[in-house]
Amino acid sequence: MVYVSLTSSRAWAQEMDRCDDLAGFRSRFYIPDEVIYMDGNSLGLQSRDAAEELQRTAAEWRDLAIGGWLDADPPWFNLGEDLGRRMAPLVGAAPDEVVAAGSTTVNLHALLGSFYRPGKQRKGILGDELNFPSDIYALRSHLQLRGMDPEEHLVLVRSRDGRVLDEGDIIAHMTSDVAVCVLPSVLYRSGQLLDVAGIAAAANERGILTGLDLSHSVGALPHSLSDWGVDFAFWCTYKYLNSGPGGIAGLYVNRKHFCRSPGLAGWWGSDKDQQFAMSLDFHPAGAAGAWQIGTPGVLSAAPLLGSLRVFADAGIERVRAKSLRLTAYLIDLIDEELSGCNCRVGSPRESTRRGGHVAVEHPEARRVCAALRARGVVPDFRPPHIIRLAPVALYNTFTEVHSVVGQMKEILETREYERFPCEGPPVS
Ligand SMILES: *Cc1c(COP(=O)(O)O)cnc(C)c1O
Repeated sequence: MVYVSLTSSRAWAQEMDRCDDLAGFRSRFYIPDEVIYMDGNSLGLQSRDAAEELQRTAAEWRDLAIGGWLDADPPWFNLGEDLGRRMAPLVGAAPDEVVAAGSTTVNLHALLGSFYRPGKQRKGILGDELNFPSDIYALRSHLQLRGMDPEEHLVLVRSRDGRVLDEGDIIAHMTSDVAVCVLPSVLYRSGQLLDVAGIAAAANERGILTGLDLSHSVGALPHSLSDWGVDFAFWCTYKYLNSGPGGIAGLYVNRKHFCRSPGLAGWWGSDKDQQFAMSLDFHPAGAAGAWQIGTPGVLSAAPLLGSLRVFADAGIERVRAKSLRLTAYLIDLIDEELSGCNCRVGSPRESTRRGGHVAVEHPEARRVCAALRARGVVPDFRPPHIIRLAPVALYNTFTEVHSVVGQMKEILETREYERFPCEGPPVS
């Protein structure tokens, strides 16, 4: 391979790794053997801290049995609140505005149960056509539950180019018949980071509630939910927060809404002092904890304790700074090395508009992904033609980014991908 520019040399990547102030965090993770893992935006790697907490919790279950609800460390009874307090700095919230509970889609349902209250005039929900399908299914089902036609009352803002959303288009759809808007902070395909502060401000001015899905931004970049005036938010923890497959999710409720009663009530949302009084009258917690429904999955929450320790040590600002350096480097290399191979960067190039991953578009994306996997590089594929690459600040290196682009170039130039089938596995 002939390299022409300075940044495309491997020595430059190695120098960047030497100057990396987060380099030491890689050894806190289990990196699969012989693998370059670029899929932390789908399932983050296991940290030693997370594994320890999982094992410790299993031992507490073994040794304390029912006693673990109060005597485990931290007690399982308050685990949702405890994890919420630890996640709050990552989303820019007060400790009692965040709780760990349920799963992403279930939390969206729980929040819509309270925050989607169609009135006589304000009836509609505003979303976008590029959001993760599960969110759209949830939005539609809330309209249907209330006997309303999604065709009429769910407005999905269109993308002009199929990749990104224009914030001006979103705001233009904030009409007087919209009750609530639910949008992702970072789009799962292109990786666009929306100007959520501007969107929330515009919604507030118009009397519309704002709900955000932070699945693709939490653990990748800082947030200021309370300062932005966001009303509610929810996210998964198994992507950039590395809590493990199906790990407990998170939700945020702005404290101005603590007076609301949760729409989908359950005993785990009770005021903790009254929960075991077993009264048939529900006394909600008066904090984000009220939006819990049932007993949390303690074993699916335990790894998050360890994972959040890693974040507390690293600091989300440093994580974001390195993530931007990694993705900028990846974009530069793709431009330099792969633009002659029919590849195109589908993510925004401005650092203020980019999340933690880079979308690479190629007509044979599915087979290129298969060829990368066969070589030990783990990307992911999103139809119809997107290869997502997430160089994660806590455990990926610049040298890995360099290697991935080099390998993609070989795969494309030699048409190595043609050896792989056009059909893919059920999980990608
Ligand atoms: C990953 C992701 C989800 C996943 O939902 P689950 O309920 O955890 O399966 C939902 N929404 C978005 C935007 C996501 O990126």
